[in-house]
Amino acid sequence: MDFERSITMYKSFKMLREKIEKEKEKYQDLCKEVRKIREESVCNQKLIDETVRNLRSRGFRVEIAEKCEDAIKLVLKEIGDEKIVIKSKSNVCKEIKLAENLIANGIEVIETDIGDRIMQIFGGEPAHPTGPAAHLSAERIAKKIKEIYGVEVEAKAESIAKFLKNEISKHIEKANVGISGANAITSDGLILLAHNEGNIAEVLRKRRWICITGIDKIYPSVYDALKAIKLQSFFATGKDSTSFIEIVSGAASTSDIEKKPVRIGGDALVILLDNGRSDIAKSNFREVLYCIGCGSCVTVCPMHLFNEYYKGGRFSLYYSLNGSDEVKLCLGCGKCVSACPLKIDIPSMIDLKEGSLKRFFYSHFVFTLLLIKFGLSYAQSKLRII
Ligand code: SF4
Ligand code: SF4
Repeated sequence: MDFERSITMYKSFKMLREKIEKEKEKYQDLCKEVRKIREESVCNQKLIDETVRNLRSRGFRVEIAEKCEDAIKLVLKEIGDEKIVIKSKSNVCKEIKLAENLIANGIEVIETDIGDRIMQIFGGEPAHPTGPAAHLSAERIAKKIKEIYGVEVEAKAESIAKFLKNEISKHIEKANVGISGANAITSDGLILLAHNEGNIAEVLRKRRWICITGIDKIYPSVYDALKAIKLQSFFATGKDSTSFIEIVSGAASTSDIEKKPVRIGGDALVILLDNGRSDIAKSNFREVLYCIGCGSCVTVCPMHLFNEYYKGGRFSLYYSLNGSDEVKLCLGCGKCVSACPLKIDIPSMIDLKEGSLKRFFYSHFVFTLLLIKFGLSYAQSKLRII
């Protein structure tokens, strides 16, 4: 067991939860509103068709990928002979294991989000969908930077962020292809991307931009999409808004010469991934697709805190609907439902999938073992200090 991982993650999540708890009352009406929007729009075929039509009329090329393999093939074809791509944070890219697949095909992948870049250096499972490195202390990251780059960086968040931002910038210039997810796509063909670091602006302005997102990310209007993004920002970071929200309505163009519209920007491919979503939307697990990806359920999940292979909350359930069996470890404690802005009932769906009694005993047995291991690691670390 990685004792330090659990402690650092606990401290990071505690700080975040305190921020959220202080102000979450203000968001109650928005939570209900976004839940209703999601209920009506998730995997709504009419909305998907309209969106595809309107994206195409704005000049985006659009492909629907049924399975992960289809999405990967489309990305590889689009990348062509390029040897390096830059990428921003995306749950869908994680879902299809895009980076791993590109690397296996000889393509260098540069994560442009600082948290994702840290995870690229360390390897292993991310701690949280929007804070992937929340389990790594500044000391640990600074030590790794010294090991990999031979550079002494002060073990402070500011110094590490500055070093990595510079390091990432050097790679950004070399790439001609940028890959991102999308927070939302609207039925009139707008693509919305929210971010804090400014990196997404660099990714989508590359000569070729590949945007991959799930068919569940489609919203009826830009106003509905912005409501979901605001809620996601608050429940992911405790901030009322991300630093930037990009709204992309087409390729860069100008009408400055004789008022004739001329395209001056790159080319964009939008890949809408199904990967079982259409079937889930028609099943008793539909509710899992209402998720806006804030990760609030992850920050309270006790099993995730002690077991790095349990993704926590909604993510464990979603991955087990696609074949993983980690959901057997769910304790059924219900903390994730209380923390979820949309009150998505994850444990009830897990019960539906795995049954409750057998899983209850199994998960509690594993959890007890983890607690014992944790206690022993703690005692060992105290003895080392003495
Ligand atoms: S019910 Fe399961 S997924 Fe939800 S917080 Fe508890 S252990 Fe985690
Ligand atoms: S299930 Fe709820 S809390 Fe978890 S990521 Fe989705 S919206 Fe956020």
